[in-house]
Amino acid sequence: MIPLAEPTFGDAERSRVVDALERGWISPKGEYVTEFEDVFGAWIGTEHAFATSTGTAALHLSLLAAGIGEGDEVIVPDLTWIACANVVSYVGATPVFADVDPDTYTLDPASVRERLTEDTKAVMPVHLYGQPCEMTPIQRLADKHDLLVLEDAAEAHGATYRGRRVGSLGDVGCFSFYGNKILTTGQGGMITTDDDELAERIRLLRRDGMSRDRKYYHSVIGYNYRLTNIQAAIGVGQVERADAILENKRRVAETYRRELTTQDVRFQATPGWGESAHWMVAPVFRTTGQFERVRNALADADVETRPFFYPLHEQPPYAGSGSDCPVTERLHERGLNLPSAPNLNHQIIMEICDVIRNAL
Ligand SMILES: *Cc1c(COP(=O)(O)O)cnc(C)c1O
Repeated sequence: MIPLAEPTFGDAERSRVVDALERGWISPKGEYVTEFEDVFGAWIGTEHAFATSTGTAALHLSLLAAGIGEGDEVIVPDLTWIACANVVSYVGATPVFADVDPDTYTLDPASVRERLTEDTKAVMPVHLYGQPCEMTPIQRLADKHDLLVLEDAAEAHGATYRGRRVGSLGDVGCFSFYGNKILTTGQGGMITTDDDELAERIRLLRRDGMSRDRKYYHSVIGYNYRLTNIQAAIGVGQVERADAILENKRRVAETYRRELTTQDVRFQATPGWGESAHWMVAPVFRTTGQFERVRNALADADVETRPFFYPLHEQPPYAGSGSDCPVTERLHERGLNLPSAPNLNHQIIMEICDVIRNAL
């Protein structure tokens, strides 16, 4: 089976994991966590970076730290991973689903504007499949209506918008290091921010609410959302190799685009405002019949694929939330993720493209 995603590791990760074990740094206590936060924060370009146990925990902590809760609404794209809505529910707020742009598949500012109410407190642009959202109009709406901008950069490590790395554009940014992400620690996450007040609350909440200058004194109900040093040791190595990983992701994406772009197959648009990190190659077929034929042919050829996310407003926990997102619905019916591992060799990509062309 050719997998959808596959991590790559080298001596940069291996030597640090062995070192962490030899020093007995297996829990969150030890120096690799701090080093991972330092190198990742510097790479993204924010003042603060906090490693967390998962990307979901990073999103959850960010909402908690910003004081989002009961009675508040948070606008999230309809086309994204379910955690984006779940974390809003965790804090007792309501996710409101906005539609995405038909070309970039990312949050459509016009749809965000339509969903605004007096209760809207935050907006969550998701840099889907590695493609940076158009942030300027979202930021403008946020400024006008005093909204928190929480960037979900879980799929877009290293992507840029107008020369700046995603995760440094909003009030707070969140990353995931799950096994299939661009950089991985198996499980893990990171919060990036320039806001000192948010940073202080994130620090407190992540460590069980334990006060910084009074050990074992817990001033609030917190969470144990920390990363371990074994994971952080892998993470430091991944950051060291990030440019090489991104270069390979681009090579894979460009090969598929060159081979397959026709009237029947189009790819996620990559407008001039930034550079995609090309997490997942994501063709959309002209008809649902073509989508089905390609999906079946690839399954028969032992090639793993994944349909685009179900529209969140159709998932059982959020069904009946009343949102109409026709673009997301159309993309879900005709969009497919193809194997996008950075170590995918040229010959295999060409074979996958042949299967797709024959099915079409
Ligand atoms: C992977 C992902 C998450 C969640 O990250 P985990 O580390 O799996 O908890 C959140 N949002 C998006 C868009 C993701 O792709």
